[in-house]
Amino acid sequence: MSPDIKSQTKEELESQFKAWGEPVYRVTQILEWLYVHRVTNWGAMTNIPKALRQKLQEHYSLGVLELVRKQGSRDTTQKFLWRLADHSLIESVLIPANPALYGEVSDRHTLCVSTQVGCAYGCKFCASGLEGWKRNLSVDEIVEQVLAVERWNTQQALPRRSEAKAGTGHTEAPETTPRPEPALPRFIDNLVIMGMGEPLANYDNLLKALKILNAPWGGGIGARKITISTSGLAPQIRKLADEPLQFRLALSLHGATDETRNRIMPVNRKYPLKELTAACEYYQQNKGRMITFEYILIAGVNDGLDQVVPLAKLARKLNAKVNLIPYNKVEDLPWERPTETAQEAFLAALEKQKITATLRREKGHDIDAACGQLRLKTERELAAL
Ligand code: SF4
Repeated sequence: MSPDIKSQTKEELESQFKAWGEPVYRVTQILEWLYVHRVTNWGAMTNIPKALRQKLQEHYSLGVLELVRKQGSRDTTQKFLWRLADHSLIESVLIPANPALYGEVSDRHTLCVSTQVGCAYGCKFCASGLEGWKRNLSVDEIVEQVLAVERWNTQQALPRRSEAKAGTGHTEAPETTPRPEPALPRFIDNLVIMGMGEPLANYDNLLKALKILNAPWGGGIGARKITISTSGLAPQIRKLADEPLQFRLALSLHGATDETRNRIMPVNRKYPLKELTAACEYYQQNKGRMITFEYILIAGVNDGLDQVVPLAKLARKLNAKVNLIPYNKVEDLPWERPTETAQEAFLAALEKQKITATLRREKGHDIDAACGQLRLKTERELAAL
């Protein structure tokens, strides 16, 4: 199968154009069609000669994601469930900045993107790992999550029913669009790589996708506005530390001792806290950037005040801030969300230790907000048909 053009960097396209004997300035025009106008078919690239469009079509595919389901409403957390070409389902989550924090309607939008179909890491609180790992997402499938949400935002482009081949998911729309596509304003300005899958287990595709989403000719999202979240793959954290781009790092910690973390995250048996902490220190020395700990509070599992002192110690050592997230109940999993009193007590104890911490008063609680939950629910509904 031919590679999707959105998996290609500018340099790769320029080198292909040179090999074809085509003028290199055409690459700039094509990238504008892809990342400024966000077109979904070759025919929309109206300033590209037809013969060149034909050549492009023979060498590259131009896929779009099919929206299967969306939950949430404007200015709240919204979940998008996408179907890929192989019928796999993935989620992206759009999180507007909290208007209450700024006193006006939000103009900052964060997209949480997926990097794998399913997940092999089996964290005990997570719906994404419940049915195992299926495959890594390709570079273009990661990039396209951003473009598809931006198209949706301007009410233009999710594959119109008349254009998409029914049920084929990551389809190529036929060349039937008669009108030129307008330039679309940028909508997503922050990315968190925290959706379905362990991002650092799909390292090469993720890094290439982020380079495309960061590039001025591509997504134009600043590297400092991109946060990669990991369950704790120590060797890949070290590798990321050696990359030139300044991405932010978030660590899904969820337990401040090996004993507690082992209960929640099987990956801790492979990379226990000592090894993980050393990798994070290396990251921090190389990048000089603050790390974030994500800590899901689960009743009776990790919300005891006995976790506060070791958590504070780790946070001090790594100059990390702590995001406390009340657990979202997942069907089939036994754990529960702590009471609000218990949540606030944990936060207060952490603050008493002089740690910078926030407690997420969960925005997505009512929309199957836990990672992978919408996908799981939809797959089960489809299977029951
Ligand atoms: S939390 Fe992340 S790494 Fe853990 S099972 Fe879920 S998707 Fe995988």
